[in-house]
Amino acid sequence: MGLFKQLLKFLQRPLRPLRLNNPLCTTNQSSPPIANPKSKIYNPKSNMLSVPEAIRIVIEQTRQLKPERVALSSALGRVLAEDVIADSDLPPFDRAQMDGFALRSADTESAPVRLRVVGESAAGRGWHVLMRAGEAVRIMTGAPVPTGADSVQKVEVTSEADGFVEVYERTQVGQFIVSRASEVRAGETVLRKGETINAPKMAALASFGYSEISVGAQPRVAVLATGSELVRVDQKPCADEIRDSNSFSIGAYAQLAGAQVERLPLAGDDPELLQREIAEAATRFDALILSGGVSMGVYDFTKAALRALDAEIFFERVSLRPGKPTVFARLCDALVFGLPGNPVSVSVTFNLFARTALRVMQCDAEPALVEERAVLARSVKGSVERASYLPATLLTSEDGRLLAQPLKWGGSSDFVSFTRATALIIVPEGVRSVEANEVVKIIRLPS
Ligand code: AMP
Ligand code: MG
Repeated sequence: MGLFKQLLKFLQRPLRPLRLNNPLCTTNQSSPPIANPKSKIYNPKSNMLSVPEAIRIVIEQTRQLKPERVALSSALGRVLAEDVIADSDLPPFDRAQMDGFALRSADTESAPVRLRVVGESAAGRGWHVLMRAGEAVRIMTGAPVPTGADSVQKVEVTSEADGFVEVYERTQVGQFIVSRASEVRAGETVLRKGETINAPKMAALASFGYSEISVGAQPRVAVLATGSELVRVDQKPCADEIRDSNSFSIGAYAQLAGAQVERLPLAGDDPELLQREIAEAATRFDALILSGGVSMGVYDFTKAALRALDAEIFFERVSLRPGKPTVFARLCDALVFGLPGNPVSVSVTFNLFARTALRVMQCDAEPALVEERAVLARSVKGSVERASYLPATLLTSEDGRLLAQPLKWGGSSDFVSFTRATALIIVPEGVRSVEANEVVKIIRLPS
């Protein structure tokens, strides 16, 4: 048997499966476990999926978590799991937009005119007496406009003395009044399920009395780094060792995606330990994100471990550079992502695939990163076989165009250069190069 065949056999040898059909998949989780998950046969020659196809599969295979109710004060960044309905008109009354005097515009036709000040309408304490011709009511911004008035004149073009106000400029009907319900009508849907709550949406929720709100639950995510070369961040690497950085970038990206993260102990390249850690994590977490061990090396055990555990593997090769051997699977109720170990590959594949799943779980109506367009600042090379997702910084040209400046970097291990990246430039598969000034698709990296 040739060396290559021996290697292949070694790679594909079955690992001792853990006890299936028992504790592993029978937990008290919210949604029912998958019956008889079947792994697909690993065929290294199989066609690669395109990135959009892989993302579509991720979306299809990910289930929304059961929403939860949170206090409004904790809702920032969460995803709405219910539509938000206005319980009142906005504004709830005809509201003054300026400090000044409420009056009848007909009275000001021959301005300057002198009107009698009959009262005052302040915010929270309005003047509720019918205002008649020849009268004015002193009014503050945000206060209700008295019945009978049809406009407000700002204080700057008036002067008040001895119970009268001199109005120097005429008003138009409706001037400086925001009329009742002109912004929102009671019963209207103001925010929709699937939207992420940002600061201005907090104001909308507060205005309509949502002291509590139903939001997508935060996925519990386990992060597991494989690789015998890895030591913990608090350890000094010896010869041939490096510190584990992927657990921290993945953890950080997962947190940015709204997940609650736990970093598991380093698994080395020990197939038994890896299998145990995956099996255990699948019972405790909504998603498990592994890094490393998905390539064709002798010590790449992640896919073998998933197969031995009878995980349902949805894809394991994507037409993507960097990130071809990305694997996506389900074990029990947990989604499993095996990301290629190079730190830049990790960032690219996490944000394309794992992030999308975490957003679906939280009910996000637009779970995948949105593609935008920018002008390429410098030429880049693509790949005949795969779509390239190349790190870039975004800037604006003097004439206001969005520019994508490809990063000067040393390849998918160069995570220090990657710290400057704010976006990825997409070069479709089959495109050998794209020249400066051409328009390219980009996605912004979460930060
Ligand atoms: P692998 O995908 O396991 O073949 O790893 C590819 C490359 O990524 C190797 O150079 C690894 O040393 C590196 N690498 C893998 N895992 C990590 C990690 N957790 N932190 C930093 N580098 C890693
Ligand atoms: Mg490795």
